[in-house]
Amino acid sequence: MSVPHYGLFIDGEWVDSAEKYEIRSPATDELVATVAKGGTADVDRAVAAAKAAHEAGQWRRTPPQERAAVLHAVADRLEKRLQELAALQTRENGATIRVTGALHLGLSIAQLRYIADLATTYEFEKNGPEIGPIPAVGVLRREPLGVVAAIVPWNIPLLVIVWKVGPALAAGNTVVLKPDEHSPLVALELAKEFEAAGLPKGVLNLVTGDGDPVGAHLSGHPDVRKVAFTGSTEVGKSILSKSADTVKRVTLELGGKGPNVVLDDADVPLAVDGALFAALANNGQACEAGTRLLVPNSLKEEFLTRLVERAKTLKLGNPLDLATDVGPVISSGQRDRILGYIESARADGATIALGGGVPQGPEFATGNWVEPTIVTDVTNDQRIAREEVFGPVLTVLTYDSVDEAIKIANDTNYGLSAGVWGRDESRALDVARQLDAGMVYVNDWHVINPAYPFGGYKQSGLGREGGPNALDAYTEQKYIAVDRSGGLENRAAFALVLGTPPA
Ligand code: NAD
Repeated sequence: MSVPHYGLFIDGEWVDSAEKYEIRSPATDELVATVAKGGTADVDRAVAAAKAAHEAGQWRRTPPQERAAVLHAVADRLEKRLQELAALQTRENGATIRVTGALHLGLSIAQLRYIADLATTYEFEKNGPEIGPIPAVGVLRREPLGVVAAIVPWNIPLLVIVWKVGPALAAGNTVVLKPDEHSPLVALELAKEFEAAGLPKGVLNLVTGDGDPVGAHLSGHPDVRKVAFTGSTEVGKSILSKSADTVKRVTLELGGKGPNVVLDDADVPLAVDGALFAALANNGQACEAGTRLLVPNSLKEEFLTRLVERAKTLKLGNPLDLATDVGPVISSGQRDRILGYIESARADGATIALGGGVPQGPEFATGNWVEPTIVTDVTNDQRIAREEVFGPVLTVLTYDSVDEAIKIANDTNYGLSAGVWGRDESRALDVARQLDAGMVYVNDWHVINPAYPFGGYKQSGLGREGGPNALDAYTEQKYIAVDRSGGLENRAAFALVLGTPPA
């Protein structure tokens, strides 16, 4: 059966590369599409096109309202194709169809619209206060940076792309987008929609291919002014150190190890569902998942019994089936990595209270599967509590006092998300204020909202995406001082250095 083939999108043209590779469903191994495998020469061409488009100036001089209209037009087009693109996303990365519809597509569209609206009220240029007592004025400007590189992972690709490409384009930059090699298809469809919505040539370019060479070459390219990266902490660190060579602006959204603190006054059935929602959404492959559940010893028995019983009701299987709760993991390599973490927990003395292996049965004969897994008797020094597993694995730790819970929660190199469950809101808020994380959810999780910033403390990242300041990260500030004193104030300043001019 023939499947679609996607080329690279450079300077407004769809071009092919010498090599291509296959995208296969992580659930069924079905061939979904073939994709051009770009290399460093393609990156050079894409950056040159983006630089030329920036210098030509058509896009950056387009009024913000018109740039916003392009973003809204793309959001409209995505909305019309929501079901089709949600299914494509599911076939490409295995996220369940309920989640790709509501989260991957739904939230991305809302994010795109929020950014577009933000651009229409953003003060790209305004007069500042008068400078001193005499007539002189400062003009404050926000100008686009130039070429922005957006490098993204496979787990929630569209949202993570929109977080970068949305504000970059709304602010008048040009972009080279590099999707993850496992999940470029929805990104490629997005590029088609920008093309159809009339974005000028070269303003958005897309190069598919491996992290090294494509991502590595792009993130080090001297003509790239900013790198916006989402992915592993390891690659994020390498991008940050390379950025020093040309003093690039960098935004990083990296890994997490979210602590989820259940207080002793929590609504237990609600918190049980909340703990599974926090850990298992997107098949457990979410950077801001709640993966370290902290349960008070006073509730331990009741909570763990309910947790395991509830987790047993989850349906693992074909992610295109609307009845499925948990789908596959992205690759066989990722499956083996997750199983390795479960083994390490066993070896460190933890208990596998549920799952822990590969599910059996004809449905699981192809694809990359890990059972939803609950690991108990975990201490915070074990590998499973310290490193990001990125799979359907929830680890449970216990505590005696709230101070101890906060100490354990903050004892991590990460700081992306955290959560608190309790009926007394002021007490829960008091705990939330003490947790070192960019997002803290009270009696909920995954409350990602376009109007609020997303990003992490510590090694979870640098900067924030979305939220009311989203455009700041894609603009340079410029101060223009205009002397209107007609020779009075400026001459007085000159005299400080030059002395009084000869008569
Ligand atoms: P990864 O770092 O391996 O890959 C992410 C992207 O970087 C891909 O496009 C990849 O091709 C590219 N890449 C790989 N090597 C590169 C290099 N040397 N130079 C430049 N680019 C390179 O990440 P992954 O393991 O595939 O994705 C999962 C990670 O992403 C997890 O750690 C997860 O927490 C993180 N993540 C974070 C967020 C967030 O917002 N904080 C969101 C989603 C995922």
